[in-house]
Amino acid sequence: MEDKKLEKLRKKLGYERKSGWESVKGDEVFSFAEAYKEFLSEVKTEREAVHYFVQRAAGLGFSENSSDRISIANRGKNLMLVRKGRKPVADGIRIIASHIDCPRIDLKQVPVYEDNDLAFFHTHYYGGIKKYQWANIPLEIRGTVIDKDGKAVSVRLGQNEGMVFVVPDLCPHLSHKAQDDKKATEVITGENLSLLAASIPEEGKGKDRVKLHLLKLLNEKYGIVEEDLISSELEAVPAMSAMDLGIDRSMIAAYGQDDRICAFTSCEAFFDVEEPEYTAVVFLADKEEIGSEGSTGMNSLFLIRGLYRAARTFGEKLDEGSMLDLLSKSGALSADVNGAVNPLYKSVYENDNASFLSSGIVVTKFTGHGGKYMANDADAEWVAHIRNILNEAGITWQTGELGKVDEGGGGTVAKFLARYGMNVIDAGPALISMHSPYEISSKVDLFETYRAYKQFILKG
Ligand code: MN
Ligand code: MN
Repeated sequence: MEDKKLEKLRKKLGYERKSGWESVKGDEVFSFAEAYKEFLSEVKTEREAVHYFVQRAAGLGFSENSSDRISIANRGKNLMLVRKGRKPVADGIRIIASHIDCPRIDLKQVPVYEDNDLAFFHTHYYGGIKKYQWANIPLEIRGTVIDKDGKAVSVRLGQNEGMVFVVPDLCPHLSHKAQDDKKATEVITGENLSLLAASIPEEGKGKDRVKLHLLKLLNEKYGIVEEDLISSELEAVPAMSAMDLGIDRSMIAAYGQDDRICAFTSCEAFFDVEEPEYTAVVFLADKEEIGSEGSTGMNSLFLIRGLYRAARTFGEKLDEGSMLDLLSKSGALSADVNGAVNPLYKSVYENDNASFLSSGIVVTKFTGHGGKYMANDADAEWVAHIRNILNEAGITWQTGELGKVDEGGGGTVAKFLARYGMNVIDAGPALISMHSPYEISSKVDLFETYRAYKQFILKG
């Protein structure tokens, strides 16, 4: 008897995290995941992501000059979609900002070299990777080369042609001294992240004939020469398709889920809302993984330029003062992933404030590291507002910090939005093995994130 009473009291007073699987319909969750997996397998660079969403938006009537739905791309690597609300832009916007760049290995500008009759590509990694994870896995090369005439050449060498590139690791028989006793960060060095790329020499006599043969193949296929590679952005990304993980097919293993899971869900949610109350914006940023700097990162003025332009196209005139006012009246979700508890490494999490796979979208009040350095710290009022929206819609959500206080940390685009005076909070699904070549998400979290973003656009 006493137990029942306590149970009732606990239910009334306590906070409890729930599994998303308890409350959603399986069919919807699984079919939504299929579309997401297709997207992940196809789109592996920021340029490809912009291209994908521009096409998708165009199919729904979005263009640069539409009177109510605008799509503006920034240098092919950053995209802003705007949907006119019932209220004027000057009353503030609701924005969901995610990023479409992912950790990867970029080819250097003079990449090709030959060593012991093998040709390689030098690389320079991008973002926070654990370098050893990128050795001996199938990689493909995607990107753009601008030739001497300024023509953009699209490069895609890999899975679709049954071809891969590999960073060759050392066999265990010989790694005793060279690797086995080293720190994980030093087992594979930055310079050793070279891609094995060719081994047939060009006929004749002379040096570096394998390299020459490789350059000849590139020239035949793409019409480019070695100097053209200096003006290129070529990315080595995992040559692996998105797959169901687990016998119950409840999870997804795929490259690029940080943060294209938020890009995909926010765009899908955005496309679903025909007539939002406030002007709705989806912002897909580049360069988040290297600090949001650069002309295509969240720290650029592209958002402001896009808003001026949208207002003008919608028939509104904004001056500088009204722009600042509208920004401070606006609400934002920094749509980014959190690190879900990996039960194999319990020691780095504090479970009461950690996020878990399958427990729904994670609402993160602050990011940063140590004493909340480099963080946006959302107002309690804004947390309450978001909490209510999610509860009212019956969305499974959880709160979560990234690991124990002194364990590490990380940042998102949140602080760059907060700079405009907006209410902003981080909200996105939790991943296991974040930043690895094969990140793990939960299908129910994917779906709840999509539902949460939709509610935010409607009621945020
Ligand atoms: Mn991220
Ligand atoms: Mn990241």
